[in-house]
Amino acid sequence: MKTPVTVLGLGAMGTALARALLAAGHPTTVWNRTPGRSPELDELGATRAGTPADAVAASPLVIVCLLVDATVRATLDGVDLTGRTVVNLTNSTPEQSRTTAERFGASYLDGGIMAVPAMIGTPGAFIFYSGVPEAFEKYRAELSVLARPAYVGEDPGLAALYDIALLSAMYGMFGGAQHALALMANAGVPATAFTEQFLSPWLTAMLASIPRMAGELDNGPVDTAGSNLAMQAAAYENLVTAAQTQGVDPRLLVPMGELLAEAVAAGHGDEGLSALVGLLRSA
Ligand code: NDP
Repeated sequence: MKTPVTVLGLGAMGTALARALLAAGHPTTVWNRTPGRSPELDELGATRAGTPADAVAASPLVIVCLLVDATVRATLDGVDLTGRTVVNLTNSTPEQSRTTAERFGASYLDGGIMAVPAMIGTPGAFIFYSGVPEAFEKYRAELSVLARPAYVGEDPGLAALYDIALLSAMYGMFGGAQHALALMANAGVPATAFTEQFLSPWLTAMLASIPRMAGELDNGPVDTAGSNLAMQAAAYENLVTAAQTQGVDPRLLVPMGELLAEAVAAGHGDEGLSALVGLLRSA
């Protein structure tokens, strides 16, 4: 028989996790604060537990996926976790993850899900894990059912740190795209055609500059390939002015312009974008 697994939390993500485990043949016990959520899991063979304690008692591997960190500790408080490995996939800060790890102890893994629910169980999804290495090795196969597992270290806060780094990059990209779409919308340009023909290809091409930036951070500066910060700071003012003229709020753009100006004022005008990372690190 495959390892029984418990899933605490049947929101959009917890439901997707339970569904993947059921599809892979794991006896799956589920609990949710509001009873009866995600009834489709019953048809797929899930067993419902009435309390977190009953759910935890049913399986050696317990996956927790609630909305916020504070509810994880509240949900598991007082529950006997003896012999259980707790894998907490609830979004958290590194500090929150370390606190939860101290509380739930000997066999704890923290995780950061890099997928939306529809991606769970598909090749594009991956999940960061950190915490007790033996726990990860013991349940690597079961965790692989959910998404490609990426173990990043023993410090339980590391998975949250990697997760938050990627989410931060994602929101920066979304913010830029939303600003561009607002500019086009105010000019009456349809969003879909603009995105397919220009926005997505441009962002894809610009992705190529990120490994270059990373290489400079690891190995020292190389030449700026013709795009130094002084040039970029001068052009950036036009981005803000044009937004205002088009009736678009420049609030997402302004901080980057301030950072560029600061970098030039600090003598980094002839350097490349990796110099900005140095300024952020000293904040
Ligand atoms: P949902 O809002 O869909 O579900 C939230 C879940 O948390 C529900 O099961 C809810 O129970 C439960 N919950 C909320 N408050 C409490 C509480 N006080 N006590 C007990 N249970 C509680 O969120 P998701 O499932 O989408 O997200 C779950 C986690 O996964 C989050 O940390 C999220 O950041 C993370 N995540 C989500 C992604 C996504 O795209 N959805 C992507 C990557 C990570 P109830 O039904 O009773 O309200």
